[in-house]
Amino acid sequence: MVYQHTVNGTVVDLPLGKVVCVGRNYADHAAELNNPVPKSPILFLKPASAVVPFSEPIVVPCGMGECHHELEMALLIGRKLEKASEAQCLDAVAGYGLALDLTLRELQSQLKEKGHPWERAKAFDGACPLSGFVAAEQVRDWRQCELSLTRNAKLQQQGCCADMLFPVEALLAEISQSFSLMPGDVVLTGTPAGVGPLQPGDEIAAAVNCEGHRLITVETHVL
Ligand code: ZN
Repeated sequence: MVYQHTVNGTVVDLPLGKVVCVGRNYADHAAELNNPVPKSPILFLKPASAVVPFSEPIVVPCGMGECHHELEMALLIGRKLEKASEAQCLDAVAGYGLALDLTLRELQSQLKEKGHPWERAKAFDGACPLSGFVAAEQVRDWRQCELSLTRNAKLQQQGCCADMLFPVEALLAEISQSFSLMPGDVVLTGTPAGVGPLQPGDEIAAAVNCEGHRLITVETHVL
């Protein structure tokens, strides 16, 4: 199935654009990979061709070493942000969703060592399973959102969006200084600790809860 943006279950008239990702936006995840906490956000992109529906079986590239799940809150951009102030940014978010920033970890480590870009490890086809979005109006305070991912019924990742090092408004404003965010672009806000390799047959369940409500759930498996 081809991915299309949906909000509250309805296809919306926003083209799928680029996916902007941020590395090390949670201190506990930076620590688990022995990375320093950055002073400004580490940004990278995934192309639209990397996006697939999260509800479909996850395909891990063959013979490329470990492929890690990174569960992240996704923001659907509804309005252009160009050199925006923090105050302008939240209104441009059309919806909140869930994504995996799939990462070929061994390849990424090799690329990092050589000082090369990460795209080969992060931008492959299928590298961005993305859920449908919940309308922004339904999320009173994104800081209250809690993410969780279980693998074979065991809790692997759990994080609260309040713990982001660069909060949503600051992150979007900062991104928009470097390149414009267009309607239909998606921003992934970084992963909390607990990343790990996916294996064929793994059962994956991911969720966002906000102020006691279950906003999004996704259940799938690894092919
Ligand atoms: Zn990530």
